[in-house]
Amino acid sequence: MSLKSYVVIAVLGTGFSVGFYFFYRLFRYLQLGKYENRFDQIPLRLKTFAIGVLGQNKMFKDFLPGLLHAFVFWGFIIISVGTLELFVEGIFDGFNLSFIGNTPYALLLFFQDLFYVLVLGAVLFFFFRRLVLKPKRLEVLSRHSAWDAYFILTLILCIVVSSLSMNGANDLLDPHPWDTLKPFSTLFSMFYAQLPLSINALTVISEISWWVHVGAVIVFFIYLPFSKHLHIIAAAPNVFFTRLTPRGRLKKIDLGDESQTTFGAGKLEELPWKAILDGYACTECGRCNEFCPTYTTQKPLKPRSLIVNLRHHAEKKGYAIYTQDTDHPELKKDLILDVISPEAVWDCTTCGACVEACPVYIEHVDHIIDMRRNLVLMQGKMDPEAQKVFNNWENTSNPWGFSPQSRGDWAKELSLPLLSQNPNVEYLYYVGCAASFDSRNQKVARAFAILLQKAKVSFGILGSEERCNGESCRRLGNEYLAQQMIEENKKVLFKYNIKKILTTCPHCFNTLRNEYPDFDARFEVIHHTEFLKQLIQEGKLKISKQIEKKLVYHDPCYLGRYNKIYGPPRSVLQELPGTVLVEMPRHKDKGFCCGAGGGRMWLEEHRGTRINVNRVEEALALDPKVIATACPFCITMLEDGLNAKNQEKEVQTRDIAEILLEAISS
Ligand code: SF4
Ligand code: SF4
Repeated sequence: MSLKSYVVIAVLGTGFSVGFYFFYRLFRYLQLGKYENRFDQIPLRLKTFAIGVLGQNKMFKDFLPGLLHAFVFWGFIIISVGTLELFVEGIFDGFNLSFIGNTPYALLLFFQDLFYVLVLGAVLFFFFRRLVLKPKRLEVLSRHSAWDAYFILTLILCIVVSSLSMNGANDLLDPHPWDTLKPFSTLFSMFYAQLPLSINALTVISEISWWVHVGAVIVFFIYLPFSKHLHIIAAAPNVFFTRLTPRGRLKKIDLGDESQTTFGAGKLEELPWKAILDGYACTECGRCNEFCPTYTTQKPLKPRSLIVNLRHHAEKKGYAIYTQDTDHPELKKDLILDVISPEAVWDCTTCGACVEACPVYIEHVDHIIDMRRNLVLMQGKMDPEAQKVFNNWENTSNPWGFSPQSRGDWAKELSLPLLSQNPNVEYLYYVGCAASFDSRNQKVARAFAILLQKAKVSFGILGSEERCNGESCRRLGNEYLAQQMIEENKKVLFKYNIKKILTTCPHCFNTLRNEYPDFDARFEVIHHTEFLKQLIQEGKLKISKQIEKKLVYHDPCYLGRYNKIYGPPRSVLQELPGTVLVEMPRHKDKGFCCGAGGGRMWLEEHRGTRINVNRVEEALALDPKVIATACPFCITMLEDGLNAKNQEKEVQTRDIAEILLEAISS
């Protein structure tokens, strides 16, 4: 071996040893998190990995930057093969990968050359975007973060330009038929050929380019553990280890497990290890902020900061623990005070927009709920409003504290069958608290019940026997009370051997469908918009009237984003002759929350501007006569929003069932 071989071995050995040491430290910090099994369902994980990592599916939601980012990612894989070849070639002069076969090697050379240019174009665009376009979502969190982005982009630029330059010089020094497979490197050789360069000068250019390439790769590797671009390594495992249970299902706490001394997460070690990996994987792209209702309405919760703060805390606390630096200030920090503010923990509406938008499958909502659970169950710290609503649920099984005996009063005039009188019906209409007690939403329950009667559906209600299903209580962090409520509700449902449930509330729908199986209660749960669509298609509901109105549809988060029901409510509206359905800019998976999810329906909004007003303003910009929706919480919030804008007379908020009933009434 030549002297260069020994120098290359020394440089690569030192560089990668240092880099691997820093990565090893991060791996140890990861082990601080609570164990959670994410090694199950490997085939499904591999499929998710193929779609989310290799296919970059979520990146394409923001098409142009997503496509360019995908070029960089795919380029990273293919260029890495070329880089490995260069490392070995630096040690064993003349080495190349042609032993893999002529055609595969020719394809490798062609794609490497192509991706050098695609990556180059993408990096130049990313520079332009940061320096000139400056999109709000890329607002930097610190000076380090701004500098970090430019540094990494410059390193990538060095890697691709040095490769093209080296290939260009080598092609002149040692022409080969393969050179035609590298059209973009050929541009460099044509450029060098125009210059009065001797063989020695070309050799120097080739050597310098080689060292720039290898040097940039080593600096990149050593620096990565300190950069937000750590996602280049961490995003792939983060997608692989993503939660595979339905997105709308909260983790169940085993309250009977006596080995558990704490509940929820009051410190880093009580969060699952995946939360720390989430921090490593965050690209700081700001997509979560862009769609977050609390960030948009200037509240303390900013999902990007929540994840970035968790990462910084894990790194500093991990360092202090492993170096046994007991005086380190990070060890004295309270997770839900110094790292994440309690206000941020309570502001979340659990709308899931952040999780949906995040290209690297970060699970913000689960971490927020873990922190709420700790505040409520371990620290007893919560808003007085939350305390009041917990008391109401405990005493009356509804959030307002109404008498449970009056739960079925909304249906008195309709003579609806009670299951206690006729248990042999096909469907239970599970009404839920909002439609049972809130006078506005009782109208929705009545409209739906009349539609069921008109379609001659075999159904019944539980009346005063119905219990709250615990959905909002769980999301407010009171797992203990929620599980009590779930057990009580289950008892009634099991008493009548219920198999099929209809709901008009997406929150009831989501919890009965996605969460009750964790409590050994499985039903076929159907949201009323799906059921109404089916009844129209089967000819059981006949539309007889024109509805000459311009409508805009608001997607409830727990129906749309959590359960992917976007089509049925729109289909019902489109069936109605004369209606004009228009879409708000934020719709379907990008739908904007009304502000009531996550139990926020029962808490006042004390910080920032109002979420429901923000949503109503978006709807009003389209000049509709009706804001249609399919959720009792959304109806309340949107009506309040219209009141705030003094538009309650001009524009109505109506449930799909009410609009349909109007179209089929004689
Ligand atoms: S769930 Fe919704 S409100 Fe909560 S952080 Fe995510 S986007 Fe914001
Ligand atoms: S959490 Fe996800 S969406 Fe938010 S900044 Fe990080 S990578 Fe982007």
